[in-house]
Amino acid sequence: MSQSHSPVEKVVIIGSGPAGWTAAIYAARANLMPLVLAGGGPDRDRMPGGQLMFTTDIENFPGFVHGIGGVALMDTMKQQAERMGTRTKDHSVTRVDFSSRPFKIWHEAPLLGEDETLTLAHTVIISTGAAANYLGLESERKFENNGVSACAVCDGNMPRFAGQPLVVVGGGDSAAEESTYLTKFASKVYLVHRRDSLRASKVMAARCLGNPKITPVWNSAVQEVLGNDTDGVTGVRVKNLQTSKEHTLEASGMFAAIGHTPNTKFLSGQLATNDKGYIILKDGFRSLTSVEGVYAAGDCADSTYRQAITAAGMGCKAALDAERWLAEQGIH
Ligand code: NAP
Repeated sequence: MSQSHSPVEKVVIIGSGPAGWTAAIYAARANLMPLVLAGGGPDRDRMPGGQLMFTTDIENFPGFVHGIGGVALMDTMKQQAERMGTRTKDHSVTRVDFSSRPFKIWHEAPLLGEDETLTLAHTVIISTGAAANYLGLESERKFENNGVSACAVCDGNMPRFAGQPLVVVGGGDSAAEESTYLTKFASKVYLVHRRDSLRASKVMAARCLGNPKITPVWNSAVQEVLGNDTDGVTGVRVKNLQTSKEHTLEASGMFAAIGHTPNTKFLSGQLATNDKGYIILKDGFRSLTSVEGVYAAGDCADSTYRQAITAAGMGCKAALDAERWLAEQGIH
């Protein structure tokens, strides 16, 4: 493949969810003319805009009295960033070289069939997000946004779930927390787990299992999400893994809480990550990574909060950290 590159960029932002666009808004306002490599390609993990592009109503992002759609929120952030001078390419990053400065970033627009391009950058902000893991069932995909969700905090408050039985799948802290959270709205919550005990921390597991509205369904795996086009999800068919017997749990929603996968594979070990691939921040309060001049923001560096608003806040920090570092180096 041929490669081309132009003069060294001051700030390149990889990823275009709330963290990336917020970083872009701050960097653009500081006259750093950031370049956002927004993603692009056939997989949903690479879609410009990130996870919110698959979210219908966002009611917990401050500033929108009646909530806002995920696509509209991302589009608004993008427009705001571009109005300030951000440049955007719907390109996916294929690989990076952070071993020397300026940093090297290779990227391409697979859908447009463009050649791989090399961009050089003084600073890089990684905001590539994470993808929620799903069970991988065809029926689960069919009812996504129609009763199937991977975020109780985002979707639990929807009218369709009020006073209804719901299913949560998983056995970690997320499953324990999301089940407990959903009891605020649901008539009852079935917690379906493939083992006979939770791996969640003791205190969260105890809180969850002590909640009278939560019924654990142990040693069980979801075989199929049931429903129809009008009502969405109406139940799930589960199989007991010890007896192989199957039965149906009536429910108007199923929440997958089986972990997330950060979109950091393209880094190929060039930044310190934890065993799950989340970028390790040198100081939890800042955005500095193991490589000076490279910053991280949002879900690719946060397995705990994973909210649009926390990602946006981290994007702001990353832009301010990049701006300060550039100033220290005398790059304006
Ligand atoms: P996790 O700890 O990796 O747990 C994932 C759970 O999903 C496990 O119980 C696993 O089963 C199950 N699972 C995985 N793949 C599955 C599949 N294909 N089918 C059925 N079940 C499947 O993930 P997490 O709960 O999202 O937590 C991630 C990290 O965030 C953890 O470090 C956690 O402590 C942290 N977190 C903290 C809080 C908090 O402190 N408030 C809240 C949420 C998350 P097995 O047990 O059989 O492996």
